[in-house]
Amino acid sequence: MNPFSSRREFIKLLGLSGLGMVGGCCVSAKPITETGAALSAGLLAEDPAALNTATPGIPAIDAHAHFFNASDMQAAGYLSGPIANEGPESLRSLIDILHPVVELMARKFAPSAYKEFEYLENLDRELSGLSRVDRLERLDQAIIERKDEIANELFKRLQRTDFPKKFQSSMQNGRFLIQGDTRFSKESVRAALDYGLSQNNLFNSTAAFEGPDEDHPAGLLAFVGNLFHYRIENIRIYQKAYTTGAGSVRVAAACMAMVDFDYWLDGCDHPPSRLRDQMLLTEKLVKVSDGFILPLMAYNPWSDLKSGGESLALVEQAILRHGFVGVKLYPPICYQPMGEGDTPLKSGWPSQEALKPVLTALYTMCLDMDVPVMAHANFSKGAELVCDDRSSPANWTTLVETPGFERLRINAGHFGGNHKSPSAGEQWSSDFVGVMKQAPHFFADIGFWDALADGKSDVVKKLVDLMQRDIGNGQRASERILFGTDWFMTARLKNWPDYADNIHQHLKTAGTTAADVERLMYRNVLDLYGLTQTAPGKNRQRIIEYYGRNGISADWLQLT
Ligand SMILES: [Zn+2]
Repeated sequence: MNPFSSRREFIKLLGLSGLGMVGGCCVSAKPITETGAALSAGLLAEDPAALNTATPGIPAIDAHAHFFNASDMQAAGYLSGPIANEGPESLRSLIDILHPVVELMARKFAPSAYKEFEYLENLDRELSGLSRVDRLERLDQAIIERKDEIANELFKRLQRTDFPKKFQSSMQNGRFLIQGDTRFSKESVRAALDYGLSQNNLFNSTAAFEGPDEDHPAGLLAFVGNLFHYRIENIRIYQKAYTTGAGSVRVAAACMAMVDFDYWLDGCDHPPSRLRDQMLLTEKLVKVSDGFILPLMAYNPWSDLKSGGESLALVEQAILRHGFVGVKLYPPICYQPMGEGDTPLKSGWPSQEALKPVLTALYTMCLDMDVPVMAHANFSKGAELVCDDRSSPANWTTLVETPGFERLRINAGHFGGNHKSPSAGEQWSSDFVGVMKQAPHFFADIGFWDALADGKSDVVKKLVDLMQRDIGNGQRASERILFGTDWFMTARLKNWPDYADNIHQHLKTAGTTAADVERLMYRNVLDLYGLTQTAPGKNRQRIIEYYGRNGISADWLQLT
Protein backbone atom coordinates (compact mmCIF):
# COMPACT_ATOMS: atom_id res chain seq x y z
CA MET A 1 0.00 0.00 0.00
CA ASN A 2 1.43 3.34 -0.99
CA PRO A 3 0.50 6.58 0.66
CA PHE A 4 -2.38 7.82 -1.45
CA SER A 5 -0.88 11.26 -1.76
CA SER A 6 2.24 10.03 -3.50
CA ARG A 7 0.25 7.92 -5.93
CA ARG A 8 -1.88 10.93 -6.72
CA GLU A 9 1.22 13.02 -7.27
CA PHE A 10 2.58 10.36 -9.54
CA ILE A 11 -0.59 10.21 -11.61
CA LYS A 12 -0.65 13.99 -11.79
CA LEU A 13 2.89 13.92 -13.08
CA LEU A 14 1.93 11.53 -15.85
CA GLY A 15 -0.80 13.94 -16.85
CA LEU A 16 1.42 17.00 -16.67
CA SER A 17 4.07 15.42 -18.81
CA GLY A 18 1.77 16.04 -21.76
CA LEU A 19 1.68 12.34 -22.53
CA GLY A 20 -1.77 11.73 -21.19
CA MET A 21 -2.86 9.18 -18.65
CA VAL A 22 -2.57 5.52 -19.47
CA GLY A 23 -5.51 3.31 -18.81
CA GLY A 24 -4.86 0.69 -16.14
CA CYS A 25 -1.45 2.07 -15.26
CA CYS A 26 -0.74 -0.62 -12.68
CA VAL A 27 -1.94 -3.64 -14.63
CA SER A 28 0.49 -6.55 -14.55
CA ALA A 29 1.94 -8.10 -17.68
CA LYS A 30 0.48 -11.39 -18.84
CA PRO A 31 1.60 -14.09 -16.39
CA ILE A 32 3.64 -17.09 -17.38
CA THR A 33 1.34 -20.06 -16.92
CA GLU A 34 3.55 -22.93 -17.97
CA THR A 35 7.20 -23.69 -18.06
CA GLY A 36 7.29 -23.36 -21.84
CA ALA A 37 9.16 -25.33 -24.44
CA ALA A 38 12.45 -26.88 -23.45
CA LEU A 39 15.04 -24.44 -24.72
CA SER A 40 18.38 -25.62 -26.02
CA ALA A 41 21.06 -25.37 -23.36
CA GLY A 42 23.76 -22.96 -24.43
CA LEU A 43 21.71 -21.57 -27.34
CA LEU A 44 23.14 -18.07 -26.81
CA ALA A 45 26.26 -18.94 -24.83
CA GLU A 46 29.66 -17.51 -25.53
CA ASP A 47 32.30 -19.73 -27.02
CA PRO A 48 33.78 -21.68 -24.08
CA ALA A 49 37.23 -20.98 -25.55
CA ALA A 50 36.69 -17.35 -24.64
CA LEU A 51 36.51 -18.33 -21.00
CA ASN A 52 39.29 -20.83 -21.10
CA THR A 53 42.07 -19.91 -18.73
CA ALA A 54 44.59 -20.81 -21.41
CA THR A 55 43.64 -17.72 -23.40
CA PRO A 56 45.38 -14.51 -22.41
CA GLY A 57 43.78 -12.80 -19.50
CA ILE A 58 42.83 -13.86 -16.01
CA PRO A 59 39.44 -15.37 -15.27
CA ALA A 60 36.96 -13.52 -13.13
CA ILE A 61 33.53 -14.01 -11.62
CA ASP A 62 31.48 -10.87 -11.14
CA ALA A 63 29.84 -10.88 -7.71
CA HIS A 64 27.50 -8.00 -8.58
CA ALA A 65 25.66 -7.42 -11.85
CA HIS A 66 22.14 -6.63 -13.07
CA PHE A 67 20.46 -7.71 -16.28
CA PHE A 68 16.81 -6.82 -15.56
CA ASN A 69 14.74 -4.32 -17.50
CA ALA A 70 12.15 -1.64 -16.74
CA SER A 71 9.35 -4.20 -16.67
CA ASP A 72 10.94 -5.83 -13.60
CA MET A 73 10.91 -2.82 -11.30
CA GLN A 74 9.21 0.44 -10.36
CA ALA A 75 11.40 2.15 -12.94
CA ALA A 76 9.99 5.65 -12.50
CA GLY A 77 10.15 5.50 -8.72
CA TYR A 78 13.68 4.13 -8.84
CA LEU A 79 14.84 6.94 -11.14
CA SER A 80 13.11 9.74 -9.28
CA GLY A 81 14.04 8.33 -5.85
CA PRO A 82 17.33 6.44 -5.40
CA ILE A 83 19.01 7.70 -8.60
CA ALA A 84 17.86 11.34 -8.55
CA ASN A 85 18.43 11.77 -4.82
CA GLU A 86 22.18 11.62 -5.38
CA GLY A 87 22.55 13.46 -8.63
CA PRO A 88 23.33 17.14 -9.12
CA GLU A 89 20.57 19.59 -9.99
CA SER A 90 21.26 19.29 -13.74
CA LEU A 91 20.68 15.52 -13.68
CA ARG A 92 17.65 15.79 -11.42
CA SER A 93 15.95 18.19 -13.78
CA LEU A 94 16.45 15.68 -16.63
CA ILE A 95 15.14 12.82 -14.50
CA ASP A 96 12.08 14.90 -13.55
CA ILE A 97 11.05 14.83 -17.19
CA LEU A 98 12.35 11.37 -17.95
CA HIS A 99 10.80 9.29 -15.21
CA PRO A 100 7.10 9.40 -16.21
CA VAL A 101 8.18 8.65 -19.79
CA VAL A 102 10.18 5.67 -18.58
CA GLU A 103 7.15 4.48 -16.58
CA LEU A 104 4.92 4.53 -19.66
CA MET A 105 7.56 2.76 -21.70
CA ALA A 106 8.06 0.19 -18.93
CA ARG A 107 4.49 -0.91 -19.52
CA LYS A 108 4.13 -0.47 -23.24
CA PHE A 109 7.59 -1.06 -24.59
CA ALA A 110 9.95 -2.94 -22.22
CA PRO A 111 9.64 -6.69 -22.89
CA SER A 112 7.79 -8.32 -20.00
CA ALA A 113 9.00 -11.62 -18.59
CA TYR A 114 6.17 -13.32 -20.48
CA LYS A 115 7.17 -11.66 -23.73
CA GLU A 116 10.81 -12.63 -23.34
CA PHE A 117 9.78 -16.19 -22.52
CA GLU A 118 8.10 -16.34 -25.93
CA TYR A 119 10.96 -14.47 -27.57
CA LEU A 120 13.47 -17.08 -26.36
CA GLU A 121 11.26 -19.88 -27.65
CA ASN A 122 11.12 -18.21 -31.06
CA LEU A 123 14.88 -17.72 -31.09
CA ASP A 124 15.30 -21.38 -30.21
CA ARG A 125 13.18 -22.42 -33.20
CA GLU A 126 14.94 -20.01 -35.55
CA LEU A 127 18.52 -20.40 -34.43
CA SER A 128 19.06 -23.88 -33.04
CA GLY A 129 20.18 -25.25 -36.44
CA LEU A 130 22.84 -22.57 -36.86
CA SER A 131 26.46 -22.55 -35.74
CA ARG A 132 27.38 -20.76 -32.52
CA VAL A 133 29.01 -17.93 -34.45
CA ASP A 134 25.89 -17.42 -36.57
CA ARG A 135 23.57 -17.57 -33.57
CA LEU A 136 25.54 -14.90 -31.74
CA GLU A 137 25.72 -12.79 -34.87
CA ARG A 138 21.94 -12.90 -35.12
CA LEU A 139 21.66 -11.83 -31.50
CA ASP A 140 24.10 -8.96 -32.09
CA GLN A 141 22.06 -7.84 -35.07
CA ALA A 142 18.89 -7.97 -32.97
CA ILE A 143 20.60 -5.79 -30.35
CA ILE A 144 21.44 -3.13 -32.95
CA GLU A 145 17.87 -3.15 -34.22
CA ARG A 146 16.52 -2.97 -30.70
CA LYS A 147 18.74 0.01 -29.92
CA ASP A 148 17.35 1.79 -32.98
CA GLU A 149 13.83 1.12 -31.70
CA ILE A 150 14.68 2.29 -28.19
CA ALA A 151 16.26 5.49 -29.54
CA ASN A 152 13.23 6.18 -31.74
CA GLU A 153 10.82 5.55 -28.92
CA LEU A 154 12.72 7.75 -26.46
CA PHE A 155 13.09 10.50 -29.04
CA LYS A 156 9.43 10.39 -30.03
CA ARG A 157 8.26 10.66 -26.43
CA LEU A 158 10.86 13.15 -25.23
CA GLN A 159 10.81 15.61 -28.10
CA ARG A 160 7.41 16.85 -26.96
CA THR A 161 8.74 17.74 -23.51
CA ASP A 162 11.32 20.16 -22.11
CA PHE A 163 13.89 17.41 -22.23
CA PRO A 164 15.63 18.52 -25.47
CA LYS A 165 16.19 22.01 -24.08
CA LYS A 166 17.51 20.77 -20.75
CA PHE A 167 19.61 18.07 -22.37
CA GLN A 168 21.15 20.66 -24.61
CA SER A 169 21.93 23.07 -21.83
CA SER A 170 23.35 20.44 -19.46
CA MET A 171 25.43 19.04 -22.34
CA GLN A 172 26.88 22.31 -23.36
CA ASN A 173 27.10 23.71 -19.90
CA GLY A 174 26.82 27.14 -21.42
CA ARG A 175 29.63 26.61 -23.89
CA PHE A 176 29.75 26.02 -27.61
CA LEU A 177 30.36 22.47 -28.64
CA ILE A 178 33.77 21.78 -29.99
CA GLN A 179 33.11 18.74 -32.09
CA GLY A 180 30.07 16.95 -33.40
CA ASP A 181 26.48 17.99 -33.26
CA THR A 182 25.04 16.86 -29.96
CA ARG A 183 21.75 18.65 -30.33
CA PHE A 184 18.84 16.50 -29.20
CA SER A 185 17.87 14.47 -32.25
CA LYS A 186 17.05 10.91 -33.17
CA GLU A 187 20.72 10.48 -34.09
CA SER A 188 22.10 11.93 -30.89
CA VAL A 189 19.78 9.78 -28.74
CA ARG A 190 20.97 6.74 -30.70
CA ALA A 191 24.60 7.77 -30.17
CA ALA A 192 23.94 8.23 -26.45
CA LEU A 193 22.81 4.59 -26.20
CA ASP A 194 26.33 3.57 -27.29
CA TYR A 195 27.98 5.89 -24.79
CA GLY A 196 31.36 4.45 -23.89
CA LEU A 197 31.18 1.75 -26.54
CA SER A 198 33.14 3.29 -29.38
CA GLN A 199 36.00 5.73 -29.57
CA ASN A 200 34.34 8.01 -32.06
CA ASN A 201 31.00 8.23 -30.31
CA LEU A 202 29.55 11.73 -30.50
CA PHE A 203 29.58 12.03 -26.72
CA ASN A 204 32.92 10.53 -25.86
CA SER A 205 34.75 13.81 -26.11
CA THR A 206 34.62 15.52 -22.75
CA ALA A 207 35.27 18.86 -24.41
CA ALA A 208 31.63 19.85 -24.34
CA PHE A 209 30.88 18.59 -20.87
CA GLU A 210 32.10 19.81 -17.55
CA GLY A 211 31.38 17.83 -14.43
CA PRO A 212 31.77 14.34 -13.04
CA ASP A 213 31.49 11.52 -15.54
CA GLU A 214 28.41 9.98 -13.88
CA ASP A 215 26.47 13.20 -14.42
CA HIS A 216 26.84 13.16 -18.21
CA PRO A 217 23.37 13.39 -19.79
CA ALA A 218 24.33 10.89 -22.53
CA GLY A 219 25.33 8.45 -19.80
CA LEU A 220 21.91 8.85 -18.24
CA LEU A 221 20.29 7.96 -21.57
CA ALA A 222 22.65 4.99 -21.99
CA PHE A 223 21.59 3.69 -18.58
CA VAL A 224 17.91 4.25 -19.37
CA GLY A 225 18.34 2.56 -22.76
CA ASN A 226 19.39 -0.69 -21.07
CA LEU A 227 16.07 -0.69 -19.23
CA PHE A 228 14.29 -1.49 -22.51
CA HIS A 229 16.34 -4.37 -23.84
CA TYR A 230 15.46 -8.02 -23.65
CA ARG A 231 17.41 -9.30 -20.66
CA ILE A 232 19.31 -11.76 -22.85
CA GLU A 233 20.51 -8.76 -24.85
CA ASN A 234 21.81 -7.10 -21.69
CA ILE A 235 23.71 -10.29 -20.87
CA ARG A 236 25.24 -10.31 -24.34
CA ILE A 237 26.18 -6.60 -24.22
CA TYR A 238 27.91 -7.31 -20.92
CA GLN A 239 29.75 -10.35 -22.26
CA LYS A 240 31.05 -8.46 -25.25
CA ALA A 241 32.70 -5.98 -22.88
CA TYR A 242 33.89 -8.23 -20.09
CA THR A 243 34.13 -11.77 -21.45
CA THR A 244 35.18 -11.77 -25.08
CA GLY A 245 36.26 -8.15 -25.56
CA ALA A 246 39.96 -7.41 -25.87
CA GLY A 247 41.40 -7.14 -22.40
CA SER A 248 43.18 -8.69 -19.49
CA VAL A 249 40.12 -9.97 -17.66
CA ARG A 250 37.68 -12.62 -18.86
CA VAL A 251 34.50 -12.79 -16.83
CA ALA A 252 33.37 -16.40 -16.77
CA ALA A 253 30.15 -15.89 -14.81
CA ALA A 254 28.18 -13.09 -13.19
CA CYS A 255 25.98 -13.08 -10.10
CA MET A 256 22.74 -11.58 -11.35
CA ALA A 257 20.93 -9.68 -8.63
CA MET A 258 17.19 -9.14 -9.02
CA VAL A 259 15.34 -6.35 -7.21
CA ASP A 260 11.99 -6.08 -5.45
CA PHE A 261 10.96 -2.54 -4.51
CA ASP A 262 7.26 -3.35 -4.14
CA TYR A 263 5.26 -0.92 -1.96
CA TRP A 264 8.24 1.27 -0.99
CA LEU A 265 8.49 3.50 -4.07
CA ASP A 266 6.05 5.98 -5.56
CA GLY A 267 3.93 4.58 -8.34
CA CYS A 268 2.52 1.11 -8.66
CA ASP A 269 2.74 -1.50 -5.90
CA HIS A 270 4.13 -4.09 -8.33
CA PRO A 271 6.17 -3.86 -11.52
CA PRO A 272 4.57 -5.11 -14.78
CA SER A 273 6.51 -8.40 -14.58
CA ARG A 274 5.74 -10.02 -11.26
CA LEU A 275 8.58 -11.56 -9.28
CA ARG A 276 7.49 -15.15 -9.88
CA ASP A 277 7.57 -14.59 -13.65
CA GLN A 278 10.97 -12.92 -13.39
CA MET A 279 12.17 -16.04 -11.60
CA LEU A 280 10.80 -18.39 -14.26
CA LEU A 281 12.33 -16.31 -17.04
CA THR A 282 15.69 -16.07 -15.25
CA GLU A 283 15.84 -19.84 -15.12
CA LYS A 284 15.62 -19.83 -18.94
CA LEU A 285 18.40 -17.25 -19.10
CA VAL A 286 20.60 -19.56 -17.04
CA LYS A 287 19.93 -22.27 -19.59
CA VAL A 288 20.44 -20.37 -22.83
CA SER A 289 23.58 -18.67 -21.44
CA ASP A 290 24.90 -22.09 -20.39
CA GLY A 291 25.18 -21.14 -16.73
CA PHE A 292 26.87 -17.78 -17.33
CA ILE A 293 24.57 -16.15 -14.80
CA LEU A 294 24.29 -17.13 -11.14
CA PRO A 295 20.94 -15.65 -10.15
CA LEU A 296 20.03 -14.17 -6.79
CA MET A 297 16.34 -14.03 -5.91
CA ALA A 298 15.07 -10.69 -4.65
CA TYR A 299 13.49 -10.63 -1.22
CA ASN A 300 11.54 -7.71 0.20
CA PRO A 301 10.34 -8.07 3.79
CA TRP A 302 7.35 -5.76 3.27
CA SER A 303 6.10 -7.89 0.35
CA ASP A 304 6.53 -10.97 2.49
CA LEU A 305 4.56 -9.43 5.31
CA LYS A 306 1.73 -8.40 2.99
CA SER A 307 1.60 -11.69 1.13
CA GLY A 308 1.61 -13.84 4.26
CA GLY A 309 4.91 -15.55 3.43
CA GLU A 310 4.59 -15.88 -0.34
CA SER A 311 7.90 -14.08 -0.93
CA LEU A 312 9.76 -16.43 1.36
CA ALA A 313 8.19 -19.42 -0.36
CA LEU A 314 9.32 -18.00 -3.70
CA VAL A 315 12.90 -17.71 -2.42
CA GLU A 316 12.81 -21.35 -1.37
CA GLN A 317 11.47 -22.44 -4.76
CA ALA A 318 14.05 -20.36 -6.62
CA ILE A 319 16.91 -21.99 -4.73
CA LEU A 320 15.65 -25.56 -4.58
CA ARG A 321 14.05 -25.85 -8.01
CA HIS A 322 15.11 -23.09 -10.39
CA GLY A 323 18.89 -22.81 -10.32
CA PHE A 324 19.27 -19.79 -8.02
CA VAL A 325 22.25 -19.52 -5.67
CA GLY A 326 21.39 -16.71 -3.26
CA VAL A 327 19.11 -13.91 -2.13
CA LYS A 328 19.24 -10.16 -2.82
CA LEU A 329 18.18 -7.55 -0.25
CA TYR A 330 17.95 -3.77 -0.66
CA PRO A 331 17.95 -2.20 2.84
CA PRO A 332 18.23 1.43 1.62
CA ILE A 333 14.68 1.10 0.36
CA CYS A 334 14.27 1.86 4.06
CA TYR A 335 14.67 -1.03 6.47
CA GLN A 336 17.52 -2.32 8.62
CA PRO A 337 18.95 -5.78 7.89
CA MET A 338 17.81 -7.04 11.28
CA GLY A 339 14.64 -4.95 11.34
CA GLU A 340 15.51 -2.98 14.43
CA GLY A 341 15.56 0.60 15.51
CA ASP A 342 13.77 3.20 13.48
CA THR A 343 10.17 4.16 13.53
CA PRO A 344 8.54 4.19 10.07
CA LEU A 345 9.51 7.18 8.01
CA LYS A 346 6.12 7.58 6.35
CA SER A 347 2.64 6.81 7.49
CA GLY A 348 1.57 3.49 6.06
CA TRP A 349 5.09 2.08 6.10
CA PRO A 350 5.71 -0.95 8.31
CA SER A 351 7.56 -0.62 11.60
CA GLN A 352 10.97 -2.23 11.86
CA GLU A 353 9.57 -4.47 14.61
CA ALA A 354 6.96 -5.76 12.17
CA LEU A 355 9.69 -6.67 9.66
CA LYS A 356 11.94 -8.38 12.17
CA PRO A 357 10.10 -11.75 12.27
CA VAL A 358 10.00 -12.13 8.47
CA LEU A 359 13.66 -11.16 8.13
CA THR A 360 14.53 -13.64 10.87
CA ALA A 361 12.63 -16.34 8.97
CA LEU A 362 14.54 -15.46 5.80
CA TYR A 363 17.96 -15.71 7.47
CA THR A 364 17.00 -18.98 9.14
CA MET A 365 16.02 -20.38 5.74
CA CYS A 366 19.27 -19.11 4.19
CA LEU A 367 21.21 -20.98 6.87
CA ASP A 368 19.18 -24.15 6.24
CA MET A 369 19.68 -23.96 2.47
CA ASP A 370 23.25 -22.70 2.94
CA VAL A 371 22.90 -19.76 0.52
CA PRO A 372 24.28 -16.23 0.79
CA VAL A 373 22.42 -12.99 1.20
CA MET A 374 23.70 -10.12 -0.90
CA ALA A 375 22.69 -6.55 -0.06
CA HIS A 376 23.31 -3.03 -1.27
CA ALA A 377 25.70 -1.87 1.46
CA ASN A 378 26.70 1.67 0.62
CA PHE A 379 25.67 5.01 2.05
CA SER A 380 23.67 5.75 -1.07
CA LYS A 381 20.60 5.27 -3.24
CA GLY A 382 17.97 5.26 -0.53
CA ALA A 383 14.26 5.56 -1.29
CA GLU A 384 14.65 8.84 0.61
CA LEU A 385 17.95 10.44 1.55
CA VAL A 386 17.47 9.50 5.20
CA CYS A 387 17.26 5.82 4.20
CA ASP A 388 20.83 5.86 2.83
CA ASP A 389 22.27 4.67 6.14
CA ARG A 390 20.07 1.58 6.66
CA SER A 391 22.72 -0.87 5.45
CA SER A 392 25.45 0.47 7.73
CA PRO A 393 28.19 -1.71 9.24
CA ALA A 394 26.62 -1.08 12.68
CA ASN A 395 23.28 -2.48 11.44
CA TRP A 396 24.97 -5.56 9.94
CA THR A 397 26.78 -6.03 13.24
CA THR A 398 23.38 -6.24 14.94
CA LEU A 399 22.51 -9.06 12.54
CA VAL A 400 25.71 -11.09 12.94
CA GLU A 401 25.60 -10.67 16.73
CA THR A 402 22.23 -12.43 16.79
CA PRO A 403 22.99 -15.98 18.04
CA GLY A 404 23.35 -18.35 15.07
CA PHE A 405 23.40 -15.62 12.45
CA GLU A 406 27.16 -15.09 12.76
CA ARG A 407 27.40 -18.12 10.46
CA LEU A 408 25.36 -16.51 7.65
CA ARG A 409 26.98 -16.17 4.25
CA ILE A 410 26.75 -12.45 3.43
CA ASN A 411 27.97 -10.17 0.67
CA ALA A 412 27.92 -6.48 1.59
CA GLY A 413 27.49 -5.13 -1.95
CA HIS A 414 29.67 -2.09 -2.80
CA PHE A 415 31.77 -2.61 0.37
CA GLY A 416 30.72 0.84 1.56
CA GLY A 417 31.62 2.46 -1.76
CA ASN A 418 34.69 4.36 -2.92
CA HIS A 419 33.74 7.81 -1.77
CA LYS A 420 35.55 10.38 -3.83
CA SER A 421 34.97 13.29 -1.49
CA PRO A 422 34.50 13.37 2.28
CA SER A 423 31.09 11.97 3.09
CA ALA A 424 29.18 10.36 5.89
CA GLY A 425 29.79 6.83 4.59
CA GLU A 426 33.55 7.14 4.25
CA GLN A 427 34.29 4.88 7.21
CA TRP A 428 32.00 2.12 6.06
CA SER A 429 34.56 0.03 4.15
CA SER A 430 36.89 0.03 7.10
CA ASP A 431 34.05 -0.79 9.48
CA PHE A 432 32.90 -3.66 7.24
CA VAL A 433 36.36 -5.21 7.70
CA GLY A 434 35.51 -5.10 11.42
CA VAL A 435 32.32 -7.10 10.72
CA MET A 436 34.44 -9.66 8.80
CA LYS A 437 36.32 -10.29 12.06
CA GLN A 438 33.08 -11.21 13.82
CA ALA A 439 31.46 -13.31 11.12
CA PRO A 440 33.44 -16.01 9.27
CA HIS A 441 31.38 -15.81 6.05
CA PHE A 442 31.00 -12.04 5.77
CA PHE A 443 32.29 -10.77 2.40
CA ALA A 444 32.06 -7.47 0.48
CA ASP A 445 32.22 -6.60 -3.23
CA ILE A 446 33.74 -3.63 -5.02
CA GLY A 447 30.76 -3.05 -7.34
CA PHE A 448 30.77 0.48 -8.79
CA TRP A 449 34.21 1.42 -7.42
CA ASP A 450 34.62 3.76 -10.36
CA ALA A 451 37.40 5.81 -8.76
CA LEU A 452 39.35 2.57 -8.34
CA ALA A 453 38.85 1.79 -12.03
CA ASP A 454 40.03 5.32 -12.81
CA GLY A 455 43.19 4.61 -10.80
CA LYS A 456 42.68 7.39 -8.24
CA SER A 457 45.75 6.76 -6.12
CA ASP A 458 44.10 7.35 -2.74
CA VAL A 459 41.32 4.88 -3.59
CA VAL A 460 43.75 2.23 -4.88
CA LYS A 461 45.73 2.65 -1.67
CA LYS A 462 42.57 2.48 0.42
CA LEU A 463 41.58 -0.88 -1.09
CA VAL A 464 45.08 -2.36 -0.87
CA ASP A 465 45.33 -1.28 2.78
CA LEU A 466 41.93 -2.81 3.53
CA MET A 467 43.00 -6.07 1.86
CA GLN A 468 46.00 -6.31 4.20
CA ARG A 469 43.96 -5.92 7.37
CA ASP A 470 44.00 -8.82 9.81
CA ILE A 471 40.57 -10.36 10.39
CA GLY A 472 41.61 -13.05 12.87
CA ASN A 473 42.30 -16.78 12.50
CA GLY A 474 45.38 -16.01 10.46
CA GLN A 475 43.23 -14.47 7.72
CA ARG A 476 43.46 -11.11 5.99
CA ALA A 477 40.53 -9.20 4.52
CA SER A 478 41.94 -10.03 1.06
CA GLU A 479 40.21 -13.39 1.54
CA ARG A 480 36.78 -11.72 1.79
CA ILE A 481 36.78 -8.99 -0.86
CA LEU A 482 35.09 -9.71 -4.18
CA PHE A 483 35.38 -8.29 -7.67
CA GLY A 484 32.08 -6.75 -8.82
CA THR A 485 30.96 -4.38 -11.55
CA ASP A 486 27.39 -3.38 -10.64
CA TRP A 487 26.79 -3.24 -14.39
CA PHE A 488 24.46 -1.83 -15.82
CA MET A 489 24.27 0.85 -13.14
CA THR A 490 27.75 1.71 -14.42
CA ALA A 491 26.51 2.27 -17.99
CA ARG A 492 26.40 5.96 -17.04
CA LEU A 493 30.22 6.00 -17.01
CA LYS A 494 32.06 6.68 -20.23
CA ASN A 495 34.71 4.03 -19.64
CA TRP A 496 32.40 1.33 -18.34
CA PRO A 497 33.65 -1.30 -20.82
CA ASP A 498 37.17 -0.99 -19.33
CA TYR A 499 36.03 -1.28 -15.72
CA ALA A 500 37.21 -4.88 -15.16
CA ASP A 501 40.55 -4.47 -16.92
CA ASN A 502 41.29 -1.16 -15.26
CA ILE A 503 40.66 -2.56 -11.80
CA HIS A 504 42.84 -5.54 -12.56
CA GLN A 505 45.68 -3.35 -13.86
CA HIS A 506 45.60 -0.95 -10.92
CA LEU A 507 45.59 -3.74 -8.35
CA LYS A 508 48.38 -5.61 -10.09
CA THR A 509 50.65 -2.61 -9.95
CA ALA A 510 49.71 -1.56 -6.41
CA GLY A 511 51.80 -4.07 -4.51
CA THR A 512 49.27 -6.91 -4.24
CA THR A 513 50.38 -10.50 -4.82
CA ALA A 514 49.14 -12.56 -7.77
CA ALA A 515 47.37 -14.81 -5.27
CA ASP A 516 45.55 -11.82 -3.74
CA VAL A 517 44.39 -10.67 -7.16
CA GLU A 518 43.21 -14.16 -8.07
CA ARG A 519 41.27 -14.35 -4.81
CA LEU A 520 39.61 -11.03 -5.44
CA MET A 521 38.79 -11.76 -9.07
CA TYR A 522 37.16 -15.18 -8.51
CA ARG A 523 38.30 -17.44 -5.69
CA ASN A 524 36.60 -15.55 -2.88
CA VAL A 525 33.21 -15.47 -4.59
CA LEU A 526 33.38 -19.25 -5.06
CA ASP A 527 34.08 -19.54 -1.31
CA LEU A 528 31.17 -17.29 -0.44
CA TYR A 529 28.71 -19.29 -2.53
CA GLY A 530 30.04 -22.65 -1.33
CA LEU A 531 31.02 -23.65 -4.84
CA THR A 532 34.59 -24.89 -4.37
CA GLN A 533 35.54 -28.55 -4.48
CA THR A 534 37.65 -28.25 -1.36
CA ALA A 535 35.02 -26.65 0.90
CA PRO A 536 31.70 -27.25 -0.86
CA GLY A 537 28.51 -25.82 0.55
CA LYS A 538 25.04 -27.11 -0.33
CA ASN A 539 24.99 -24.84 -3.41
CA ARG A 540 27.68 -26.86 -5.17
CA GLN A 541 25.87 -30.18 -5.20
CA ARG A 542 22.51 -28.52 -5.88
CA ILE A 543 23.86 -26.56 -8.85
CA ILE A 544 25.76 -29.49 -10.33
CA GLU A 545 22.61 -31.62 -10.17
CA TYR A 546 20.51 -28.80 -11.62
CA TYR A 547 22.95 -28.26 -14.48
CA GLY A 548 23.04 -32.02 -15.10
CA ARG A 549 19.24 -32.18 -15.42
CA ASN A 550 19.22 -29.23 -17.81
CA GLY A 551 22.21 -30.01 -19.99
CA ILE A 552 24.17 -26.98 -18.80
CA SER A 553 27.95 -27.28 -18.85
CA ALA A 554 28.80 -23.94 -17.10
CA ASP A 555 32.37 -23.41 -18.11
CA TRP A 556 33.19 -21.50 -14.92
CA LEU A 557 32.93 -24.77 -12.96
CA GLN A 558 36.45 -25.48 -14.27
CA LEU A 559 37.64 -22.73 -11.96
CA THR A 560 36.33 -24.38 -8.84
ZN1 LIG B 1 23.79 -3.19 -7.75
